[in-house]
Amino acid sequence: MTQIVSEAMARSMEASSLIRAMFEEGARLRAEHGAENVHDFSLGNPMLEPPARFREAVAEILGGGGVGLHRYIPNAGLPEVRRYVADTLSAETGLAFGPAHITMACGAGGGLNTVLKALLNPGDEVLSPAPYFVEYDFYAANHGGKLVHAPTDAAFQLDLAALDAAVTERTRAVLVNSPNNPTGVVYPEASLRALADWLRRASERIGRPIILISDEPYRRIAFDGIQVPQIFPLYEHTIVVTSHSKDLGLAAERIGYVAVHPEAAEGALLGDVLVLANRILGFVNAPALMQRVLPLLAGESVDVARYQALRDKMLPALLEMGYECVRPQGAFYLFPRSPIPDDMAFCRLAQEERLLIVPGAAFRGPGFFRIALCVEEAVIDRALPVFERVLAQARG
Ligand code: PLP
Repeated sequence: MTQIVSEAMARSMEASSLIRAMFEEGARLRAEHGAENVHDFSLGNPMLEPPARFREAVAEILGGGGVGLHRYIPNAGLPEVRRYVADTLSAETGLAFGPAHITMACGAGGGLNTVLKALLNPGDEVLSPAPYFVEYDFYAANHGGKLVHAPTDAAFQLDLAALDAAVTERTRAVLVNSPNNPTGVVYPEASLRALADWLRRASERIGRPIILISDEPYRRIAFDGIQVPQIFPLYEHTIVVTSHSKDLGLAAERIGYVAVHPEAAEGALLGDVLVLANRILGFVNAPALMQRVLPLLAGESVDVARYQALRDKMLPALLEMGYECVRPQGAFYLFPRSPIPDDMAFCRLAQEERLLIVPGAAFRGPGFFRIALCVEEAVIDRALPVFERVLAQARG
């Protein structure tokens, strides 16, 4: 039993040991066999380079001779950048966003922590459909809250009856993520509309508005020409959290924002509280250089067609072999059913063949496994026979 680190962190280390062990094993295998002989689909690290305009924009900003570019800035973000984000959201949603509704954040991870810091009392619950991005557990616990999950349906779509059964007096927020990590599914507008109607009913039942937190870092990574529906016009007590880690390929630069619906309950107070939370969590402000870059990259994104091409290469090949998998409409993951019920055992088996995939249990989706399509096509070509082999082995 450790005496130096907190008991809570010791428990968190324990809880995250599954994924950590996989990454360590991946590093060990790469060192032993060479990277080209390890089929690593474990890490969702966006692999596409930022748009070419990014480097020019940075050079323009840094070469512009401006003074004071690197000083502290307002905790909420640069006023002109908040205005830019607000205008973009107004155009996309038809709602009247202003800078007061926007807090620039250190990625979606930073933004989610800022939001949960602002909302949660000790013991409050955040309800999320499962499977989900497992850092949510830690983010809720960081602020004295508890992540509660409810299953989705067979196609990983929202199951309102399951959410309804999981709501309690302590439910402060519902946290959704579409396009979804790990499943890649997108919630259609009708389903979000039904979610909003249900949220109104559930809010009435518990006597205060349940906040909808929509985590949208994959919004622009959508396939087959679909538009990810806007949640803002459907439910007024909505907070959207997002980042440019994926759509601009800027994961290491930690830039994103939190947007509060212009008509949210206590919206003005909430906006101020978010700014304070951003400050006292120690983020202070989202990286200023990256904030300045954003308006210069309006309308730009990574080459999403390349992620779609990876899906289109991998998914039919797996289905043909006999894997079962829901067709992702966005993000860059596949979440197939494990050929044996024990997804951990299946991933261990795969690991013996130097194929690295993550058990669904790590996302509260046991019985499945996650493939992160953040790889070159050649990696898929090399890995397909291995997927076929481990399927045969699993089936005995
Ligand atoms: N939310 C989801 C669903 C994610 O998959 C990730 C990262 O993988 C994040 C949030 C955090 O991303 P970032 O903090 O880089 O914006």
